[in-house]
Amino acid sequence: MTQKFDVVVIGAGPGGYVAAIKAAQLGFTTACIEKYTDKEGKLALGGTCLNVGCIPSKALLDSSWKFHEAQDGFAIHGINHAGVTMDVPAMVGRKANIVKGLTSGVATLFKANGVTSIQGHGKLLAGKKVEVTKPDGSVEVIEAENVILAPGSRPIDIPPAPVDQNVIVDSTGALEFQAVPKRLGVIGAGVIGLELGSVWSRLGAQVTVLEALDTFLMAADAAVSKEALKTLTKQGLDIKLGARVTGSKVNGEEVVVTYTDANGEQTITFDKLIVAVGRRPVTTDLLAADCGVTLDERGFVHVDDHCATTVPGVYAIGDVVRGMMLAHKASEEGIMVAERIKGHKAQMNYDLIPSVIYTHPEIAWVGKTEQALKAEGVEVNVGTFPFAASGRAMAANDTGGFVKVIADAKTDRVLGVHVIGPSAAELVQQGAIGMEFGTSAEDLGMMVFSHPTLSEALHEAALAVNGTAIHIANRKKR
Ligand SMILES: Cc1cc2nc3c(=O)[nH]c(=O)nc-3n(C[C@H](O)[C@H](O)[C@H](O)COP(=O)(O)OP(=O)(O)OC[C@H]3O[C@@H](n4cnc5c(N)ncnc54)[C@H](O)[C@@H]3O)c2cc1C
Repeated sequence: MTQKFDVVVIGAGPGGYVAAIKAAQLGFTTACIEKYTDKEGKLALGGTCLNVGCIPSKALLDSSWKFHEAQDGFAIHGINHAGVTMDVPAMVGRKANIVKGLTSGVATLFKANGVTSIQGHGKLLAGKKVEVTKPDGSVEVIEAENVILAPGSRPIDIPPAPVDQNVIVDSTGALEFQAVPKRLGVIGAGVIGLELGSVWSRLGAQVTVLEALDTFLMAADAAVSKEALKTLTKQGLDIKLGARVTGSKVNGEEVVVTYTDANGEQTITFDKLIVAVGRRPVTTDLLAADCGVTLDERGFVHVDDHCATTVPGVYAIGDVVRGMMLAHKASEEGIMVAERIKGHKAQMNYDLIPSVIYTHPEIAWVGKTEQALKAEGVEVNVGTFPFAASGRAMAANDTGGFVKVIADAKTDRVLGVHVIGPSAAELVQQGAIGMEFGTSAEDLGMMVFSHPTLSEALHEAALAVNGTAIHIANRKKR
């Protein structure tokens, strides 16, 4: 007998699994189809984020930072010790255990919420039917009132550096090194390249980042990118801008990379090379030719502002659709779509999706950059507060970076919060909450912040917008 569900989700990443849980909570019979299996061949839910993305990268970032601190950061606290050693397989093994715990947690959440988990490859057919090809090759067709496509994305390959997952790896391979490469190359100075480059640099690799663009972190506020480039370079990352990779040749256990820069053609040899030039939507064998769903010119599933495709009752969310490729964006789209299927008028504020880069210091922002606002002709007031003036940051010996708050000069409404520094990801979220409620810089300035906290830097930066900061000389006078 054909199985029928109110909602069928294809893909169990942070977009799909959250959508499935929400749909079930709203009372729909819900199934979620996922094909990804772990190294033991077991179905692993959670998508890129839990298996090979956000979580494993942060596990290695945290471990490598602790190693770095143990080596170089304790003496100033009066803690002297010698002989700190590193066990890379144990570090990578810890990461694997965290992944296992979280992915099995999603399976538990599915059970608790009554979501039917189906293992296999899902393909949308005409008439909101979904064909599932099971691991044993058998094929089943299930019927759905509503379908949510959440197949995610995968790393982009570039012809000059074909990934072999041994010497030339993508982000997934870079999470699995069993020893620290002596010379590590990274193609791409984006979020993933900088995070993974930082991990292995802290553990002792000599890291060179080759970035084709001349501008570093173009999406970030210019003051933040400048500070980030200075700090990461000081930490030992050799970031070469305007360096376009043109070829690579693997010789045994090393790779010779050719690139061009302002001085012409260059070569450089690495023991491992990470290709981190971006991700592309996964739509392979996802859509039957007559299913009616269309792709845009860049290969993303075409959707409107509410993630509805061109076929009524079929939605697409997460990395497979336009917008930033971020787990929290995927999850919120999942919730919005489930709510809309229920008939609620849910929507998402795409203008306030925070971005984070988990280097040290962390880099995070929400809203617009100063350069973008100026290009739009918006007059702004800017307040900045350095962590070097924060008592809490001093206590932690973590004083690099600053908080920058940008407000509309006419209305004082906060239009952007940009942070480079300790716990930037958490601080920026406070800005995002305020901005969602239309906060002014003055509102933020009038709130009581606990002392001593890193959050006080946000408070002071908001005060500095109108020239009323207390713990720093005000550039703008009242
Ligand atoms: C190294 C790295 C670090 C990252 N760090 C962060 C971070 O710190 N913060 C952040 O917000 N984002 C981060 N990201 C991005 C984040 O992982 C993605 O934006 C997010 O996972 C997208 O969610 P999704 O649900 O759209 O797709 P995915 O997580 O890619 O999940 C899609 C799932 O669908 C399955 N699937 C695909 N096609 C089919 C099919 N036809 N049938 C059945 N199943 C199918 C796939 O197997 C996969 O499990 C990182 C990514 C990487 C690679």
